[in-house]
Amino acid sequence: MSMRNLHLLPKSIGTIVLLFALLLAGCAVSPNATEQNTLVLANGTLIDGTGSEPISDAVLVIQGERILKVGSKEEVKIPRGANVIDVAGATIMPGFINAHVHFAFVEKNLEAWTYGGVTTVRDEAIVSSKPLDDLMIWRDESNQKPQYARLVSAGYMMTVPNGYGGLFVNSPDEARQKVLEELNAGVDLIKISMEDGYAGRSGLPKLTDEEIATIISTAHERGVLVSGHITQSEYLEILVEAGVDDIAHVPYDVTPLEAWQEMVAKDIYLTPTFTVLRNYGAPISTCVLNLRNFVEQGGQVALGNDYGGGPGEFELGIPMYEIEQMSNAGMTPMQIIVASTKNAAIVSGIEDQVGTLEPGRIADVLVVSGDPLDDLQNLTDIRMVMHNGTIIRDENE
Ligand SMILES: [Zn+2]
Repeated sequence: MSMRNLHLLPKSIGTIVLLFALLLAGCAVSPNATEQNTLVLANGTLIDGTGSEPISDAVLVIQGERILKVGSKEEVKIPRGANVIDVAGATIMPGFINAHVHFAFVEKNLEAWTYGGVTTVRDEAIVSSKPLDDLMIWRDESNQKPQYARLVSAGYMMTVPNGYGGLFVNSPDEARQKVLEELNAGVDLIKISMEDGYAGRSGLPKLTDEEIATIISTAHERGVLVSGHITQSEYLEILVEAGVDDIAHVPYDVTPLEAWQEMVAKDIYLTPTFTVLRNYGAPISTCVLNLRNFVEQGGQVALGNDYGGGPGEFELGIPMYEIEQMSNAGMTPMQIIVASTKNAAIVSGIEDQVGTLEPGRIADVLVVSGDPLDDLQNLTDIRMVMHNGTIIRDENE
């Protein structure tokens, strides 16, 4: 993913700014006032989302909305006067991220996701007739409220007239203009589709190679990621060749190994969304085989279920059907947790803010009873959810 490098600079500047802010905070207020704002989770096992080994008897220090320190109790001293929460017997992880949803511009959905341990969602295509500017203002206001999951929006899905999507372009020039309009309105990433048909339809018109190239280069010039919708291998190959940043949906026909190898070589992520494929009646065993092949080639996966992206039932909260199929494809519990945290943050373009438990990151935290590395079902036994440093759900005894 070529955009990753562009994040390096802002990240280091962000760290320096944060360090200054912490220094200033230390000078400006008395130690007691600082400590009253300090929350500590202690005695649990911590999985930081990077794929590193779990830390037992961990100490996670949170100040305001950010993580201050993380490590074992030998490494990290509990600040005096801090509010210490004992989470013995539990596992502390980053809040989960669902990197493919729709209907995220809905308060009750955002509230249900947070309560269910999903502290960020990536809306992969707006389903609304409201003006984009108004929706982006709504997103920004919603993102100030910790009870609502953080909303990352791809704006409207770009395609050609009568194609699969909601934003039509007729030429490369118009493609560039429409991308710039979306970016100027404030969308977080760009979504395009290459879809021949769905639900009994086929032969849909599709973007040309030149239009696809223009969309991707225009977004990348601005440092914005492009997510590409496909359901068939031949269109995956076109979008991988063109250089999108993640592929939305795993194909339901068998994908050649060479295509997976090219994705891995280009560092393009895959967000499988088994739930919507199941709901449309796709052969899930083929989808699972594809994911297995991709992961065996070293591919990086992000969690997403395409909530609301078709008929049938979708889970709000942690999408356990996705996790079950990832497990069937041979992903380890640790790989699945990384897919649900760090990798989902990467495809959302916010890995410098959330997705891992590291100093300076926003404190989005999920605490579950027991050990999810031992049994992934433990992910459903939620003890605590914290979003932007605020405790949203507390069942800690
Ligand atoms: Zn979708």
